[in-house]
Amino acid sequence: MIGITSYGAYIPRLRLDRMAIFQAMGWFAPAIIMVAQGERSMCNHDEDALTMAVAAARDCLTGKDKRQIDGSYLCSTTLPFADRQNAGILKTALNLRDAMITADFTSSLRAGTTGLLTALEVVQGGSRKNILVTAADKRETRPAYFYEMWFGDGAAAMLVGTEDVIAEFKGSYTVSYDFVDHYRGAGKTYDYMWEERWVREEAYSKFIPEAVGGLMKKIGITMDDVQKVVFPCLFKAEHKAIAKMLGASPEKVIDTMHEVCGETGAAHPLLMLTAALEQAKPGDGILLAGFGQGCDALYFKATEAIAKLAPRSGVKGSLANKKTIDNYMKFLKFRNLIDPEMGIRAEAPTQTAMTVLWRKRKMLTGLVGGRCRDCGTPQFPKMDICVNPKCGHVNTQDDYEFADVPARIKTFTGDLLAVSVDPPTTYGMIQFEGGGRFMADFTDCELADCKVGLPLKMAFRRRFTDSERGFAGYFWKAVPQPGAAIALPEIRFDGRVAIVTGAGAGLGRSYALELAKRGAKVVVNDYGGPRDGAGKGSSTPADKVVEEIRAAGGEAVANYDNVATPEGGEKIVQAAVQAFGGVDILINNAGILRDKSFLKMDPENWQAVLAVHLNGAYNVTRPAFGAMREKGYGRIVMTTSAAGLYGNFGQTNYSSAKMGLVGFMNTLKIEGAKYNIKVNTIAPMAASRLTEDVMPPDMFQQLKPDFVAGIVLYLASENCTETGEIVNAGAGFFSRAAIMTGQGMTIGGGKQIPTPEEIRDQWTEIDSLEGARTISDANTAIMSFLTPPAPTQAAGAAGTTGKPADAAAAAGGVPDVKGIFAKMPEAFNAAAAAGKNVVFQFSISGPGGGDWVVTVKDGTCKIETGTTEKPTTTIKMADADFLQLIAGKLDGMQAYSSGKLKVEGDIMKSQLIGKLFTFGK
Ligand code: NAD
Repeated sequence: MIGITSYGAYIPRLRLDRMAIFQAMGWFAPAIIMVAQGERSMCNHDEDALTMAVAAARDCLTGKDKRQIDGSYLCSTTLPFADRQNAGILKTALNLRDAMITADFTSSLRAGTTGLLTALEVVQGGSRKNILVTAADKRETRPAYFYEMWFGDGAAAMLVGTEDVIAEFKGSYTVSYDFVDHYRGAGKTYDYMWEERWVREEAYSKFIPEAVGGLMKKIGITMDDVQKVVFPCLFKAEHKAIAKMLGASPEKVIDTMHEVCGETGAAHPLLMLTAALEQAKPGDGILLAGFGQGCDALYFKATEAIAKLAPRSGVKGSLANKKTIDNYMKFLKFRNLIDPEMGIRAEAPTQTAMTVLWRKRKMLTGLVGGRCRDCGTPQFPKMDICVNPKCGHVNTQDDYEFADVPARIKTFTGDLLAVSVDPPTTYGMIQFEGGGRFMADFTDCELADCKVGLPLKMAFRRRFTDSERGFAGYFWKAVPQPGAAIALPEIRFDGRVAIVTGAGAGLGRSYALELAKRGAKVVVNDYGGPRDGAGKGSSTPADKVVEEIRAAGGEAVANYDNVATPEGGEKIVQAAVQAFGGVDILINNAGILRDKSFLKMDPENWQAVLAVHLNGAYNVTRPAFGAMREKGYGRIVMTTSAAGLYGNFGQTNYSSAKMGLVGFMNTLKIEGAKYNIKVNTIAPMAASRLTEDVMPPDMFQQLKPDFVAGIVLYLASENCTETGEIVNAGAGFFSRAAIMTGQGMTIGGGKQIPTPEEIRDQWTEIDSLEGARTISDANTAIMSFLTPPAPTQAAGAAGTTGKPADAAAAAGGVPDVKGIFAKMPEAFNAAAAAGKNVVFQFSISGPGGGDWVVTVKDGTCKIETGTTEKPTTTIKMADADFLQLIAGKLDGMQAYSSGKLKVEGDIMKSQLIGKLFTFGK
């Protein structure tokens, strides 16, 4: 039996929303709105017909023995090389054997079916056994053209052979005509199209029925023998009409994928055939017609083996793996149809040494490394000496193919400085299962989705284009797997002990249930009082939740203590220690409400709310923090509220308590840092007893507490390395809230007392949040006072900041570090030094650096080179950074927080520097 033994497909992950083309170009070509529905597939910037062909062929070879293949045909009208056999590159990329025939089929949309037919006939003739036929196309059109909407990029592959045939070849019929519906002149980028109506009427609706009719007559079948009819046709209405003409009922006709992909040129008949084979049952008759300067018609019959084919991506998988974009400019740039400035880094020479390419072809094109025959260690690249330090044997390396070995991200970065068509350039170290690693470019991914440990697949991609010489360079890139984040280990809490306060209802209940489900032992605390916290408590809410947890197979104990008292807090923590031996996680969640407009907010209502929310968190956290510190591990989650962060009428008590919790977190995060205790805060939004009278009922359903549990569990997990963050969460929405600090300015050079008038005159700048940033702690904030950033031009011109923009002028006209210290006596403000007694050690690294000791005592200043044993404060910086800092070009706070500026000893004393010395006067 002869026929198709396997199939594969590849549609690029990117899809362009057709409406994006209209939105960008509708002003110019309003008529394109008529075809602006659905989406078309589009190559990434590093994809072309050859890379897509490699991907489809790899899909097709799933579970097949590559060594049995003795021919490979590549069919396309958009091959990267006009004279260098593209099928030969494909063969090398796939690591197929050398003793085989390779050929390119091109110059017609019919190339795909003609390649397939030729392969079937060659196998039929008996001279070859297994031929791989791959078709791919990436066609260009001018912008704002119907065809730009209709075309898509894609590839498909068929393996033809005699064993394990899944669709037996029954016969073919071809008509060839020199009919010019469109053409592409040699060396031209775009097709020239003739009038559609003529093409529809004279070609499509004549050639396809002629070839199909000829085939049916030749092999004696009728449409009753056919279950799947496959033929591409650009024109929707014509496609329907031709099917009718052939007598094919609509359910037999395979979808052209117009809405989801577009027409992929020479690949399209095979791509649609792949879709047909995916759906076919044993015994189904499949009719395939490929149009283009005539028409090829082929007939197949699916066999029992079709049900046993190994799973693969195919058309289904390719269509499912998609990212739709609406950025038409990206589409144009990725296809090199616009030519934006790429910067001088893009001018790096790209000439390829053909000698090296030949010698290293297996490594570069085939991703073949080595594996040591003696110890089994794989390595890339292959070398004479085994990398395993325990082995180190020489000349023991066998070829080892890495392309299909599972790999994971070991490190990664997003580089905005590297030249890239799609910044940031993302790359990193990838680690192969079983050994071997190298630095690889990442593709088909977003930086935000990359994670250490994420599984990867390797993809053959264009690495560079040498447009001067017309050469395309290829190598392998890493593709983080879509949805692979799910493959990362589940977040679990086995062996962890968690306390959730106020866990008898609402949000707390949801956290407790979810923590227990994931293995935590939970103390379910709830006082059980009414919404305003007045009156007696009840054990029912906590007991019910504990029952629920136990019924689901989890571990939990109930606690009914009141968080509002220190004794209550102690007892809650004791409950965790007694029942489970310690505490790892604390969720401060208990809460009440007593809303009143401010003048009605009497002390009782004020105190009651602060007692539960703010004091409550303190009361439980203090004993819990002690237990966590001993263990060297802890996760604490505070609960703030939008009312605290942003304000809400009638909630002065609640807002104050909730914002107090943010301050509590800010300091506790610092004190917990060295014990691996992370403290974070959430600002939830959920339907509960607290919000039932303020939310409409339909919103209530949408705002189930379960939507918030995920973030709380993440912040409570080992995976969480963040500390000091505030996260808004509700209805599946998450965002960070933060206290930001503006760039600010210094008035009067830090020497003269600023007047209210000066404040008024500079208010716009003081008030501005342009360039605002978060500040990690109070010391860092002090550094930002000490060395505020360079002023804006206006302020500099006004001369009010004491920090003129020009570096040399700012440093007193001194361009080097030595000069700065030489000028220090002049910059010294004796008046500011009265009563100050401090020794600064400056250690400035780098060629222009050195050590200086600045002693300020009794209103005098002494500058010496060298070091001193007991400085009050040591300042460490690199020479270039120091010059920038003095020039006001480097923000002191940023330098400090980024590690460029290190301050040791008495950090607070470092703020004196700005007062004691004024440069740039
Ligand atoms: P909820 O009333 O359903 O749950 C709060 C639980 O805390 C109740 O079961 C209550 O019995 C318990 N509790 C009250 N005082 C206590 C005390 N002194 N000791 C122990 N337990 C006590 O309310 P919820 O909406 O789930 O609120 C949970 C937390 O989230 C609160 O801190 C609340 O301020 C905060 N919050 C909620 C929302 C929201 O939209 N629901 C918005 C912002 C903040």
